[in-house]
Amino acid sequence: MLPIATITLCAVILTASLSLSAQAGSNDDARARKFIAEHEASIRPLEKAVNLAWWTANVSGKDEDFKTKEQAQNKLDEALAHKERFAELKALKQLKLRDRLIARQIDVLYLTYLEKQVDADLLKKITSKANAIEQAFNVFRARVDNKEMTDSEVRKILKESKDSTRRKAVWEASKAVGPVVEKDLRELVGLRNEAARALGFKDYHVMQLFLNEQTQEQVLALFDQLDELTREPYRRAKTDIDAKLALHSGISVNDLRPWHYQDPFFQEAPAVYDADLDVVYASVDILKVCKDYYAGIGLPIDDVIARSDLYEKPGKSPHAFCTDMDREGDVRVLANIVPNEYWMSTMLHELGHSVYSSKNIPRAVPYVLRGEAHILTTEGVAMMFERPAKSADWLQQMGVTVADPKGFNETGEKMLRNQLLIFSRWCQVMLRFEKALYANPNQDLNQLWWDLVEKYQMVKRPEGRNAPDYASKIHIVVAPAYYHNYMMGQLFASQVHRAIARKVLKADPDTALYVGHASVGEFMKKRVFAPGKTMPWNALTKFATGEELNAKAFAADFQGK
Ligand SMILES: [Zn+2]
Repeated sequence: MLPIATITLCAVILTASLSLSAQAGSNDDARARKFIAEHEASIRPLEKAVNLAWWTANVSGKDEDFKTKEQAQNKLDEALAHKERFAELKALKQLKLRDRLIARQIDVLYLTYLEKQVDADLLKKITSKANAIEQAFNVFRARVDNKEMTDSEVRKILKESKDSTRRKAVWEASKAVGPVVEKDLRELVGLRNEAARALGFKDYHVMQLFLNEQTQEQVLALFDQLDELTREPYRRAKTDIDAKLALHSGISVNDLRPWHYQDPFFQEAPAVYDADLDVVYASVDILKVCKDYYAGIGLPIDDVIARSDLYEKPGKSPHAFCTDMDREGDVRVLANIVPNEYWMSTMLHELGHSVYSSKNIPRAVPYVLRGEAHILTTEGVAMMFERPAKSADWLQQMGVTVADPKGFNETGEKMLRNQLLIFSRWCQVMLRFEKALYANPNQDLNQLWWDLVEKYQMVKRPEGRNAPDYASKIHIVVAPAYYHNYMMGQLFASQVHRAIARKVLKADPDTALYVGHASVGEFMKKRVFAPGKTMPWNALTKFATGEELNAKAFAADFQGK
């Protein structure tokens, strides 16, 4: 038994050490708070300037606006590259911060600054190497019979020609950019690896994933599960497509080769169905349908529309994107709407991004965390809202007359199925190839590429071909280690959709539509948007759907189809 005096003494020591660590904790928190406040004061205006310059350049297309955009970006990058600031951040990251929100902001900022810590000279070399390759892509034209072809001419032949010999010649010509850039691409991979190693990573792929709060093991496990669950649905869909493509070219299915799949990489679904969804969309007021739809689900977007730039004009970017300019509700969409199915999907998609922004992330969430949890979660939300554009039931609920709703639904459903399954198999190739590329750039990459294509896309390699076909994919240069996020976004889309069907609409997920259900918007605001970046992507997925991200919901979308 301890004498009373000792017990008292222990209690005193305990109290003292408790208050001491509380003191240290709150000191640390104060130090972190100071860093965050300084970051916000200096970086926030630069980020806003970048967004504004980006917007202006894409709307006008003018050289001087692009120059301003580049300067704004350089200013921001320079500020984030600051060595002493990063050292302080590194020190803060080692501390046990008591305030969860403060700790999360430090985690997010650490990754933001870490990315910019690459040695300036090395970074210059990387940028110039990447630019040189991009330029080679830009000036490259496929040559067949000594005649140059544009990209759209190549696509037209791969889509329409019934002559396999002609298809093969054009496809091979389109791959001829591979040998042109192969050497530079290998050098670029080497430089990127050098940068990653200088920051303490095994290779560039590992680093890119780390910067996005992912690991190779985690992503690969997910892709293995996806492969397992979609292999049979994909095989079924592809059997259907193969039969149609073989018939089109007057050959047997066994003789199908990469040049028969319309898209040079078979990353998109070939157009093999008769019913044309665009006939219906020719007379649809796309903007009105979007406004009504989003208002009906309790996520009105009139303010976004008012600030947006939505129709074609000279010099303007032909693409579409959505930007949150200031994280204070100034959210805009750039688009080029024409009445067809593509732009209906695209507008639903971009406006999906727009509702997942500071419009619906409360101002109480700190500036640093007032954005989407991850690129995959915002892509997922956008893709979830985009899917009904291929449904006649949805159109009719939106007040659009569809002459042949059964035909439209059947075609739309198959198009969506093919599009998603084909894309998922293509992403398998990209993820696994890039991982292996950075792990060992000196292996036989030509062989590796076709091994992956055969295994995952189930497309036969051309007999006797030994060419750097991987190098004809520009994304390896301009958007490295990024593709898998789109696929993970699709998994997120399916998983959130099934959570909505189950928890909110209490309806069959295969037929559930959100039209007129403000409860859907309520759910999205509370369970997906409101946390912003306070949670990492997988914690958010669990918070929203009850499970971590997995491939089950996505696979269930294709059961029996
Ligand atoms: Zn998007």
